[in-house]
Amino acid sequence: MAMVEVKDLKKYFPVRRTFIDAILGKPQLYVKAVDGVSFDIEEGEVLGLVGESGSGKTTTGRLVLRLIELTDGSVKIDGKDISKLDVEELRRFRRHIQLIFQDPMASLNPYMRIGDAVKHPLDIHNIGSPKDRKRMVLEMLERVNLTPPDEFYKRYPKELSGGQRQRVVIARALITKPKFVVADEAVAMLDVSIRSQLLKLLADLKKDFNLTMLFITHDLATTKYVCDRIAVMYLGKIVEIGSFEQIYRSPKHPYTKALISAVPEPDPKKKKEKFIPQGEVPNPINPPPGCRFHPRCPFAKDICKTKEPELKDVGDGQMVACHLY
Ligand code: SF4
Repeated sequence: MAMVEVKDLKKYFPVRRTFIDAILGKPQLYVKAVDGVSFDIEEGEVLGLVGESGSGKTTTGRLVLRLIELTDGSVKIDGKDISKLDVEELRRFRRHIQLIFQDPMASLNPYMRIGDAVKHPLDIHNIGSPKDRKRMVLEMLERVNLTPPDEFYKRYPKELSGGQRQRVVIARALITKPKFVVADEAVAMLDVSIRSQLLKLLADLKKDFNLTMLFITHDLATTKYVCDRIAVMYLGKIVEIGSFEQIYRSPKHPYTKALISAVPEPDPKKKKEKFIPQGEVPNPINPPPGCRFHPRCPFAKDICKTKEPELKDVGDGQMVACHLY
């Protein structure tokens, strides 16, 4: 059994209607942010969820942690359907599911010392004695390379650099030894040099803690450090999912090819075919019929305009939603 099982997940946000719309009896419109997403994550596996802004990846991350309520579908973590938990059950279950935020400054209380911030989840879930908690926090600070840990314990967020603050956020997310972690653009706000250090830290922690993680990013290049498999999202749907090797070496969906072609090639001798999709991402209130990518796809055929392609296995577990296959 997979640690995380997501089935046909949907989130439709109602669009606010004006008074005039209501009087005229105009129908309620919805932003279909996530529209039938399914995937599994095995224990100890990191799945990268990649897509441009507006693809629905962040909404998916929030749905699988039940930070927002789903419209339809199901999310099971370690066999528990989290959409069915009542408030108290969910509160207790939260120690097993954690989020690494994008912006550490916004997610840390500026008046709370670093040690207290990392200890907070232990206090909330009543894990260990006060002495144990302090020891666990010091060990965790050391593990995320905030050394000497007793020095960092006493500091405030404003006394730390951006990279150090993100290490605190990671420490706080892992302190309860969660079964599942969502990292949402966890390194997006950091400088390039700091970003690679943080990605290396996440890769090390993945091994040490046998982390099961959903790693959400708009930047496909960052997935190579931590991800075992990658799912590519476009306009509320997964269009391709496969191992890291399959997606990088043999992408099938035209949109995945476009994302891969945008990843910088460090070796200047290697020529890469550039593929830039035409136009803008369509409006998710009224997505195109058939394949949602068809208005931007240079390979679109007539069938693409009317029939929605299903995710199909094209070999060795690589799944693609495209009429070319
Ligand atoms: Fe392009 Fe058609 Fe494939 Fe969609 S289904 S990606 S439009 S070829």
